[in-house]
Amino acid sequence: MKRIDERDTMFARMSYQKDSEQYNDYYKRNPDKKEIDDGLRDMPHICGEGTATFHPLHSPFADAGFRFLGDMKKYVEGDVNKNKVEVEAEEISKKIKKFSKYLGAKLVGVAHMKDYHFYSYRGRNPETYGEKIDKFHKYGIVFAVEMDKDMINRAPQCEEVIAVTKGYMDAAIIGMWLSYYIRELGYEARNHMDGNYLVVAPLVAQDAGLGEIGRNGILITKEYGQRIRLGVVTTDMPLIPDKREDFGIKEFCRVCNKCPKSCPGKAIPHGDMELIDGVERWKIEQEQCYAVWRRLGTDCGVCLSTCPFSQGVSMQLIDKMKNSKESMGEILKEYKEKYGIRPYIREPLDILK
Ligand code: SF4
Ligand code: SF4
Repeated sequence: MKRIDERDTMFARMSYQKDSEQYNDYYKRNPDKKEIDDGLRDMPHICGEGTATFHPLHSPFADAGFRFLGDMKKYVEGDVNKNKVEVEAEEISKKIKKFSKYLGAKLVGVAHMKDYHFYSYRGRNPETYGEKIDKFHKYGIVFAVEMDKDMINRAPQCEEVIAVTKGYMDAAIIGMWLSYYIRELGYEARNHMDGNYLVVAPLVAQDAGLGEIGRNGILITKEYGQRIRLGVVTTDMPLIPDKREDFGIKEFCRVCNKCPKSCPGKAIPHGDMELIDGVERWKIEQEQCYAVWRRLGTDCGVCLSTCPFSQGVSMQLIDKMKNSKESMGEILKEYKEKYGIRPYIREPLDILK
């Protein structure tokens, strides 16, 4: 699989200030993206005034969380204790999982890191723009935190962006504590958190068996569907990797096709997967998705709430899914009876009344 260049991601592109070194370099190499990106840059900011969901008291609550994340992201690396504690891979893997769950993670796995888990070049921060990523830790501890269903089912209103911010915050704090702990034991460790990743978290999570990537490009877990945020800590401490589990999402997405119908940006493909850089997958139109975010003022999240697995599906039906079309039919029938097109709640939650 070809490695992803972080400079091409929407968040990186939107961070290039007009006429800065990064801006000039990027659009010299990608002139076709300049016009659309300049148009997006001129739109109001997420959580900003002028967006459809802006509220003078609620929007800054999410924004403040992102500012705190921005201040915290410089602590992802640190000194390693010179007095190394000898660990046994099986024992420490179990302990790391228990500690992560104690700290609030709902799902935890370990991936044997491959080069395609890492971005090829860094893009999101001006200080590190264009840096080649060529130092790979051997293992990735990947964990998922849950986002509140009542908040996500109000997508694309303000509740959604608050829940997403909290998800990033929870994941960042768990990752910080784990990486400080591993360095205390005498091994290298790096936290990968919002705004400071070297890895593509959903690819790591998929290989560690946490879930499968669906039609909209987001990881689907059996337990919480897409109502999760991911965190990753990479390390050279010996660990036992988990295995990838294919539970039939690709087949399900082919039949389901719900998220392309509910997507306000028409960014999710209706058809079949394409062969992209040697891998068969669906490709979302990231510019169209991002334009919706800047119009609405939240990161939308309609596809997250639309996905049947985000609402909870019985494990029995999921486990039969791969070999049974009836099981898929039953999941979709139950969903339709309960939620119709999608489980949208207009009434604000108590915290925003
Ligand atoms: S976040 Fe919204 S606009 Fe983006 S793909 Fe999902 S539904 Fe579409
Ligand atoms: S809504 Fe349906 S098609 Fe979209 S990701 Fe979820 S299962 Fe796949």
